[in-house]
Amino acid sequence: MTAPGEILHVGAADYPGLDEWRSLPLSQQPDWRGHEDFDSAYAELSAHPPLVFAGEVDKLKRRLAKVANGEAFLLQGGDCAETFDGVTADKISAKVKTILQMAVVLTYGASLPVVKMGRMAGQYAKPRSSDVETRDGVTLPTFRGEIVNGFDFTEESRVPDPKRMVKAYHKSAATLNLVRAFTEGGFADLRAVQQWNKGFMQNPAHARYERLAGEIDRAVRFMEACGADFEGLKRTEFYAAHEALLLDYERALTRIDSRTGKPYVTSGHFVWIGERTRELDGAHMDYLSRVQNPVGVKLGPTTTPETVLEIIEKLDPEREPGRLTFIVRMGAANVREKLPPLVRAVRDAGAKVVWVTDPMHGNTITADNGYKTRRFDDILDEVRGFFEVHRSLGTYPGGLHVEMTGDDVAECLGGSDVIDESAFDQRYESLVDPRLNHKQSLELAFLVAESLTTVK
Ligand code: PEP
Ligand code: MN
Repeated sequence: MTAPGEILHVGAADYPGLDEWRSLPLSQQPDWRGHEDFDSAYAELSAHPPLVFAGEVDKLKRRLAKVANGEAFLLQGGDCAETFDGVTADKISAKVKTILQMAVVLTYGASLPVVKMGRMAGQYAKPRSSDVETRDGVTLPTFRGEIVNGFDFTEESRVPDPKRMVKAYHKSAATLNLVRAFTEGGFADLRAVQQWNKGFMQNPAHARYERLAGEIDRAVRFMEACGADFEGLKRTEFYAAHEALLLDYERALTRIDSRTGKPYVTSGHFVWIGERTRELDGAHMDYLSRVQNPVGVKLGPTTTPETVLEIIEKLDPEREPGRLTFIVRMGAANVREKLPPLVRAVRDAGAKVVWVTDPMHGNTITADNGYKTRRFDDILDEVRGFFEVHRSLGTYPGGLHVEMTGDDVAECLGGSDVIDESAFDQRYESLVDPRLNHKQSLELAFLVAESLTTVK
């Protein structure tokens, strides 16, 4: 066995600087470099075909440049952590369907194209607050997402297993294959999506959205009467995003594009750095500074204007439109106070970034019965605060990032079709953070669209 640092990473694309991260502080990783299966798993991944292609990644960057310019809106949605068992046709189609439904409502509200993106096909690695978990006197490694270890609290399941990276690759390939088939094969037909939204409206709990839903319906019928090209509207672009947390996986799936000669992370179109791994001199920041993909950085309530400017310098020194997205997750109680100095600093520095609100991660609470949850009203309040801040500074609120599912789970509290904590025992499925269910997701889209149409 080779010692860590001497491992020969067979097959991974070579490019100057791509391995610099190995000598930098690297947090939130499993301790598995010495595992007997590490080298073979790494080599296998390195030899696999890319999951996404450089041309698609470049196209997404052009779309995000439009968002940065105020000419499009970005919608990012999906699980906190995907699971291997969750890779089924039903679950994936429900998720894609919900994102498409939300997108139609937001397109109408913003009168702008919506760039659609799933936290999908690679969202398997999770940062954790502790390396170990202790239950009844037994201490085991913490669950880091199914790309690393299993959720069950047994030694066998919790010991990190590098072969899981290969499984995650195949699960991601199966997910992407279905997503591509759905979104390019007619599933995205605007008329069908509008029919699904009518199903949502039939629930009396959602009667207050009738006016907006009626307007969208009339707009679709008007387009049809005008002879709009519905063939063209049957397809949509749909992009895959995940947190680039597990750098062994990201490095093994990095490829050099033959057209440009530049490195791309090919595990997903868009990758982001989480709140816990965004140290300026850390490995994650260094690695993503060297690839061509559009990248996101999560910004929590302790972020300072100086840090934000340094992140721009590090990840987007050329000020390339669409390259950098800030995903703000301040919490409803903080956003109105903590966000303005950051936005002002970026605006005054003349940098063009995409500003997205993640109204989930700053609003997590523990319910009386012990479940991790979030209140729908807090989520909505943070979104509203985000829009208010941008409106008052004359900057552009470019998007929404949510943890959601297409299924009828009970994980977040509230919504018009009320979820309360008594439903958690039966319908709480998430292994990590609580997600909006199908109805709550759509309701959030309607509420955001309403506030967008009232400002116009
Ligand atoms: C996440 O997006 O699931 C996450 C861990 O977020 P953050 O880095 O903002 O805490
Ligand atoms: Mn999460």
